[in-house]
Amino acid sequence: MKQKLISFMRGRYGSDELNIVLLIASVIFSLLSPLLGILRGLSMVCLCYAIYRMFSKNVYKRRMENAKVVPYVSFIKAKFKNKGQAKLFMCPKCKRTLRVPRGRGKININCPCGNVLKRKS
Ligand SMILES: [Zn+2]
Repeated sequence: MKQKLISFMRGRYGSDELNIVLLIASVIFSLLSPLLGILRGLSMVCLCYAIYRMFSKNVYKRRMENAKVVPYVSFIKAKFKNKGQAKLFMCPKCKRTLRVPRGRGKININCPCGNVLKRKS
């Protein structure tokens, strides 16, 4: 049985950040579905897409989809870890998370990609 499962999953993509985001969205939509009926359908779509991605054999395409989501997920993770000491910005060019100290007024933030952001810290 275990050997059959191993051979079934061989070459398949598995799980990643996008799948976790889809599963969290699915749970949130299903919890809110009593308020708005369409959310139940949206929840099922998210769940089915997560399952489809998990068993997909087109690994390259799934990695490309995941690569678009990873900068946003890491930005949100950094926002949760950051407890008010620093202000976080996302570079619109390279999607990198930039940390700057709070309370310095309007500053120029230099991203390693060469982009300069003018933001209030
Ligand atoms: Zn950048």
